[in-house]
Amino acid sequence: MLAAKLPKLETVEVVEEPIPEPGKGEVLIRMKASALCRSDLHRYHGTQIFDEDESACYITPGHEPCGIVEKLGEGVTRVKEGDRVAIYLGLGCGTCPDCLKGDVMVCRDFRCIGFAVNGAHADYMTIPEENCLLMPDEMDFITGALATDVGGTLYTACKKLELNGTKTVAIFGCGPMGSGGILMAKGFGARVIAVDTDEKRLALASEIGADYVLNPAKGDAVAQIRSITNGLGADASIVTAGNNAALNSALDCVKAKGIVGQIAECNSATIDPSNQFLRKMIDLKGCWYFNRSDWEELAEFIVNKPIELKKICSNTYPISEAETAFRLFDSGKVQKVVFVWDD
Ligand SMILES: [Zn+2]
Ligand SMILES: [Zn+2]
Repeated sequence: MLAAKLPKLETVEVVEEPIPEPGKGEVLIRMKASALCRSDLHRYHGTQIFDEDESACYITPGHEPCGIVEKLGEGVTRVKEGDRVAIYLGLGCGTCPDCLKGDVMVCRDFRCIGFAVNGAHADYMTIPEENCLLMPDEMDFITGALATDVGGTLYTACKKLELNGTKTVAIFGCGPMGSGGILMAKGFGARVIAVDTDEKRLALASEIGADYVLNPAKGDAVAQIRSITNGLGADASIVTAGNNAALNSALDCVKAKGIVGQIAECNSATIDPSNQFLRKMIDLKGCWYFNRSDWEELAEFIVNKPIELKKICSNTYPISEAETAFRLFDSGKVQKVVFVWDD
């Protein structure tokens, strides 16, 4: 089978390797779609976001996939051959209170597929059966791949931000996560203000349902958000751009007792906690993935609304063209790049 590897800085190689055997409690997945993610680029550029051993460079990346169950390992009871499944990226200890609740992403022993163990940018992968998320028949494979990281994270964020038809949310950053946020927030019925300096991204934001698009390079976005909300400020804001300005604007644009969701990876930022946060009684909430047991309601939400996640897939490639795919995605000029396998 073919598998993409990141053996050296900014180098992608596609190698031939044996199809893995599913171990006890594991299944073999024949991949159908596997999305590239900004966190794959952290590995590509040598800036890991998870603390993995540097010698892990031959671990296949890919943590936003779906496929078909091809073979069952010993003792597998929950899934069967032929099942169409999306894959939950987290491996936890399985016994701590967070794992038992399905919040595997906050387990102290958390490990991520595509970082700690071989991921999904390959023809096949093995995975514990509990990581298999059954896809509704109506869900296509590209949507299935995007439903995990983009869909699951932004769905969870919208719930944490208590979005509904009476709420206005400002979304800072209109890349794949921000675009997923627009789709999800519209699904929850909220009025959406999308903010980005890239006009192409703002055009997509409008197309997928943003009620207002603002370019902070052309005018004061916070002031415009206040004027759209009759001087009050937005009820909530979501930060999907990993920079200081986005977090500051997200704090400044919400009304008193508003809620700010931090989605973007960002290792440092400077804020004025007293004036931007404490005095206004703001809730600041972090969110980077979803509870595994939310999958069924999440998948139903995506299918029934429908949430057209596929619209944020701008490019598809076969795995043999992984190098081109990585380079294009790294350019920042596209939305989601997804590896696909046709029958
Ligand atoms: Zn991701
Ligand atoms: Zn655990």
